[in-house]
Amino acid sequence: MSSTTVPTTPTGPEPEEVEISLYQSHKKIYPKSVSGLFTRWRWALVWLTQIVFYGLPWLNWNGRQAVLFDLLSRRFYLGGLVLYPQDFIYLTGLLVMSALSLFLFTAVAGRLWCGYACPQTVYTEIFLWIEKQVEGDRAARMRLDAQPLSGAKAGRKALKHGAWLLFALWTGFTFVGYFTPIRHQMAEVVSGSLGAWQTFWIFFYGFATYGNAGFMREQVCKYMCPYARFQSAMFDKDTLIVTYDAVRGEPRGSRGKKVDYKEKGLGSCVDCTLCVQVCPTGIDIRKGLQYECIGCGACADVCDEVMDKFGYARGLVKYSTQNAMTGGWSQSQIVRRALRPRVLVYSAVLAAIAVAVGVSLYLRVPMKVDVIRDRGALARMVEQGRIENVYRLQIMNATEARQTVQLAVEGMDGIAIASEPTVDVLPTEVRTLAVRVQVPPGAASGSHPIVFKLRSASDAAIHLDEKTTFLVPR
Ligand code: SF4
Ligand code: SF4
Repeated sequence: MSSTTVPTTPTGPEPEEVEISLYQSHKKIYPKSVSGLFTRWRWALVWLTQIVFYGLPWLNWNGRQAVLFDLLSRRFYLGGLVLYPQDFIYLTGLLVMSALSLFLFTAVAGRLWCGYACPQTVYTEIFLWIEKQVEGDRAARMRLDAQPLSGAKAGRKALKHGAWLLFALWTGFTFVGYFTPIRHQMAEVVSGSLGAWQTFWIFFYGFATYGNAGFMREQVCKYMCPYARFQSAMFDKDTLIVTYDAVRGEPRGSRGKKVDYKEKGLGSCVDCTLCVQVCPTGIDIRKGLQYECIGCGACADVCDEVMDKFGYARGLVKYSTQNAMTGGWSQSQIVRRALRPRVLVYSAVLAAIAVAVGVSLYLRVPMKVDVIRDRGALARMVEQGRIENVYRLQIMNATEARQTVQLAVEGMDGIAIASEPTVDVLPTEVRTLAVRVQVPPGAASGSHPIVFKLRSASDAAIHLDEKTTFLVPR
C-alpha cells in the first residue's frame, strides 16, 4: 500500500498533517435486481447473443459444421463460404465495419455496447442471476457475506461457485467448439480423449469467464477495458447518456407519499438511493456523468418505479443529451439531432464498406492459385531444342465440390504445357503440383511475361488468370 503525507494548510506556523492513502481497497458491490424497460432490453440482448453464441457451433451445413475456424487445416467455414488465410481482407473489412459501428453507436447513443451487448455485461448479468437464485437479492447477499462461516453458508457458496464453474466451462467448451468440430469435441470429452490444447483452452476461457463475471465484474470496465478509456472522445453534447435531472430532482429529501413536496421546498428525488443500489458499477448517477457509468439504464428503470409509487412524472433519471438537458428539448428534437453531420459521415462510410465487402464476396472466385517458379531448375533445354521452365502451382479449391481444372498458358509463340493439363482438385483441397511449360527453339533470351489460365470444367464461375514469367537462357 502506498501512502503520502500532505500538509492541510500551505502556510502557517504549525501545519497540521494528515495521512492520505493512495490505495483504495476494493469494496464489493451488491447490485440489487431491477425490472423495467431497459432491463428487458438488456435481457433480450443477453438471450439473443447467447442463443447465437451457444447455438451456432451446433448448426450444420452440407454435412459439416456451419461456422468453423479450422486453424489446423487453415480453412474457415462460414455457412456456404470456405475462406482461406488469403481471404484475410474480408476479416479486415469485418473488423473495420465493427469499429465503425462502435463509433456510430457511441456517437448516437453513448455506451450502448457496454450497457447491453458487451460480453462482460452479458456474463455479469448471467452470473448475477445465478447468484440471486442461490443467495437471494442484494440485502440477503450482504447479510450472508457478513455472517461467520457456517455449514449453511458454505453450502450456498459451494452451490453458487459450482453453478458458475459449470456455466463458465460450458462457455469455454463452446468457444473452443468454434475452432474444432464441436460434435467431435463432445465425443472426446465423453470418452476422456480430449487433446491437451483443447483442454487447456476450454479451462483457460472458462476460468477467464468465471473470474471476469464472478469476481472482477465492474473492475474490468473501470480499469481494464480500453474502450472505456477512449469512448469519451466519441461523445459530444448530442450523445445520449444516462442523466439525472438535477433541476427537477434537487433539493432531494425523503418524504411521505402524500406530502406536497413542493410546499416543503423539495425536488422530485426522494433520496431513496435505489439508483445507487441497482448500479452494477456502484456509482451515484446524481453526481453527474462519470466514466464508470456503462449506460445500462438500471438506475433509470428503478427511478421510474419510484416515481410511479410517488405519483410523480417518470424520467428523473433518463437517457438524454447534454444539449437536451440544457435546452429542455423534446424527444423528437433529440431524435432529429441524432442525424447530425458526424453521424451521417459514419453511416455513409459504414454503408460504403459494407457494400464493398458484400460485392467483393459476391464476385469472389471460389478458387485460388499461387504460381511459384521451381528454383532448382530455372530453365533448361529439353528434346528438339525446346526450352522448359518448371512451376509449382498451389491450387486452393474453396468450393465443396470436386473440380476438374483445365490448365493452359499464354504469352509467347508456341508456348504450351508439357505435363498433364488437367487436374482434379477435391472439395476444399489445397493441391500442389509441378507443371512443365515449354516453348519452341528460337525464343529470344530473357524474361518473358506469361499467364497461366485455369478453367473449371464444371463451374463457369471458376476462371483464374495468374501472371508469371518464363526464362529463356542465353
Ligand atoms: S432512485 Fe430516483 S428518487 Fe431514488 S435516489 Fe435515485 S434519483 Fe432519487
Ligand atoms: S449510473 Fe445508471 S446507467 Fe450508469 S452504470 Fe450505474 S445503473 Fe447503469
